[in-house]
Amino acid sequence: MPHLMNNYSRLPLAFTHGQGSHIHDEQGRAYLDALAGIAVNTLGHNHPRLTAALAEQVGRLIHTSNLYRVREQEVLSDRLAAISGMAEVFFCNSGCEANEAAIKLARLYGHQRGIESPAIIVMEKAFHGRTMATLSATGNRKVQAGFEPLVAGFVRVPFDDLPAIEQVAANNPNVVAVLFEPIQGEGGINLAHNDYMRALRRICDEKQWLFMVDEVQCGLGRTGVWFAHQHAAIKPDVMTLAKGLGSGVPIGACLAAGRAAGVFQPGNHGSTFGGNPLACVAALTTIDVIEHDGLMDRAAQLGANIRAGFQERLEGVAGVVDIRGDGLMIGIELDRPCGDLVKQAIDAGLLINVTADKVVRLLPPLVFTDAEAKQLVDILAPLIRKFLGA
Ligand SMILES: *Cc1c(COP(=O)(O)O)cnc(C)c1O
Repeated sequence: MPHLMNNYSRLPLAFTHGQGSHIHDEQGRAYLDALAGIAVNTLGHNHPRLTAALAEQVGRLIHTSNLYRVREQEVLSDRLAAISGMAEVFFCNSGCEANEAAIKLARLYGHQRGIESPAIIVMEKAFHGRTMATLSATGNRKVQAGFEPLVAGFVRVPFDDLPAIEQVAANNPNVVAVLFEPIQGEGGINLAHNDYMRALRRICDEKQWLFMVDEVQCGLGRTGVWFAHQHAAIKPDVMTLAKGLGSGVPIGACLAAGRAAGVFQPGNHGSTFGGNPLACVAALTTIDVIEHDGLMDRAAQLGANIRAGFQERLEGVAGVVDIRGDGLMIGIELDRPCGDLVKQAIDAGLLINVTADKVVRLLPPLVFTDAEAKQLVDILAPLIRKFLGA
């Protein structure tokens, strides 16, 4: 047995290499990858431009320190500001760290406004990470159980529920921010309505709360726009990114604008690895390729085709509750726990995921082809029908 902590229940499968949307295991079997390492491998596997850019950077410089200027970070911050409209960026290495930065920023903002015990509104079914503050912000008891005492200062409301927000606004003077996912990933591919996000933005303005979006999973082109909140034509005060940003090289980011800009001063926050030259080149190349190859329009189109394919093939099948999503973030909700489908898909040469017990989750790389989209539906729809006994 390898000397690994027992914190994952892993599938009995290990991969050796990948190419595009396919990945190969140690037995030499190929799989269609409709999960992309949980929305991480934006450009699929072994993308020629990413591989070349990383190799070149490795030969030049991997890491220096945030004690010095890091040019690659400066260039990437400009690029992220240009596509998001945000003003400034802090770089880290993961989604939970990006959210930790957002939570710390919101608390500091609260203290600067004279609020001694600042609180942040978070949502039911939310997922923000596994560190103490982010698991406390997460809306899933399984993530929290055994790790009490939780970090205080979070107020939980139902997702996509405006009256619940209005109630907190009327009663809790300690609130300084709202943190939510425009599309909940781990929670089951739940979409916030655009008018909800716009109304929430208005309330944040009225109350001087920070509007903070966790786009760690739904961001970076996956839904047909750079960031999912852009569908509502609003601008957040804080946005967090990670997963797909480096196409597999670890990098996270916490972006700030408006009232949230300028809150952090030297000494308030930091990271040893955050924003090293290699990670920044990975992110810059990812953004370049998405833009150059028109991958956002592709994501929107492919996603619509895939959803339509499942709608057609699962039409009238008892046990299919809902087929939903946006772009290449797709959920098929069944009426029963369906974790077994993951193994059945593996046997059929396909990588998928099940989240929130009953939701088949698809997060293909943005380089998916039309043929691969068709293949995904052709493999998975019959498996779901059979699973449901249809
Ligand atoms: C995955 C995820 C996180 C946590 O990211 P890590 O890199 O695993 O720390 C946070 N928020 C959302 C929305 C996520 O999907």
